Amino acid sequence: MRLEGKTAIVTGGSRGIGRAIVETLAREGAKVAFAYHSNSDAANALVDELKLQGQEALAIQANVADKSAADDAVNKVVEEWGKLDILVNNAGIVRDTLLARMTFEQWQEVIDTNLTGVFNFCQAAIGSMMSARSGRIVNMSSVASHYSNPGQSNYAASKGGIEGFTRCLATEYAKRGITVNAVAPGFIETEMTEAVRNAAEDQIKKHIPMRRLGQPEDIAKAVLFLVSEESTYVTGQVLTVDGGLTLGGL
Ligand code: NAP
Repeated sequence: MRLEGKTAIVTGGSRGIGRAIVETLAREGAKVAFAYHSNSDAANALVDELKLQGQEALAIQANVADKSAADDAVNKVVEEWGKLDILVNNAGIVRDTLLARMTFEQWQEVIDTNLTGVFNFCQAAIGSMMSARSGRIVNMSSVASHYSNPGQSNYAASKGGIEGFTRCLATEYAKRGITVNAVAPGFIETEMTEAVRNAAEDQIKKHIPMRRLGQPEDIAKAVLFLVSEESTYVTGQVLTVDGGLTLGGL
C-alpha cells in the first residue's frame, strides 16, 4: 500500500493504459478519480469493479481539451477528498494520415487532446499542489516523439510537445516539492493499436528485442514508480517503457 492516504486524478482512465493506471494506484491505497470522454459504460464498469474491491473511485466525464472541464474535475476532487496529490495526464488519441491528406481538424483535434489537455489539467492542479508544497505529475508521451512513423506528424508533434512541457514544468516547481515526469510507452496492446496489430502484429514483434507487445500493466508499473516515494529525487525525466523497441538493434 505505497499510496495510502493519497488522492489522484488519471485522465483517459476508463480504458487501456489509463485503466491499468487507475487500478494500480487504487490497489496501492490511493483514492482515484479518472476522467473519460464518451464511453460511460466502460467508466461505470471500472468504478463498480473498484468499489467491489473496497477501493474509492470517482468517474468524471470531461473532455481534456476543454479548460473549464479540467478546472471542474480538479475542483471536484479537491472538494470531495480535500487535496490532490497525484495527476496522471494519460488521455490521448490518434488521427493518423500523411501530411498531404491531413485535414486541419485532424491536426487540431490531436494537438488539443494530447497537448492542450495536459496543459489544462496541469494548470488546474498546480495551485493546490503548490499550497501543499508537494505533488506528483506524470504525463503520457510516446516513443513516437522521437521514433518516427509516416502518418503520425500530428501525434509526434503532440508527444514531443509534452516532453518539452514536462521538462520546463519540472524546473518551475522543483522548489515546491512537485515532481513532473513523463512516460514514453512503446507498442502497447490497447484499442488504440488494434487496427495496426491486426494488420502487422508479427512484423511489429520482430522489431521489439523482447519479442512481445507491451501490456497496459507494464506502463502502470512505471507510473507507480514515478508517483511513489521511491522516485522523490527524479524530475523532468522521460522514462521509456518499450521492451527495447527504440534501441535500434534487431
Ligand atoms: P485508448 O485505449 O484509446 O484509451 C484512450 C483513453 O483516453 C480512453 O479512456 C478515452 O475515453 C480517453 N480519452 C480520449 N480522448 C479524450 C478526451 N478528449 N478527454 C478525455 N478523455 C479522453 O488509448 P491507450 O492506448 O490506452 O493510450 C493511452 C495513452 O498512452 C495515450 O496518451 C497514448 O497516446 C499513449 N500511448 C499509447 C501507446 C499504445 O501503444 N497504446 C503507445 C504510446 C503512447 P473514452 O473511452 O471515453 O473515449
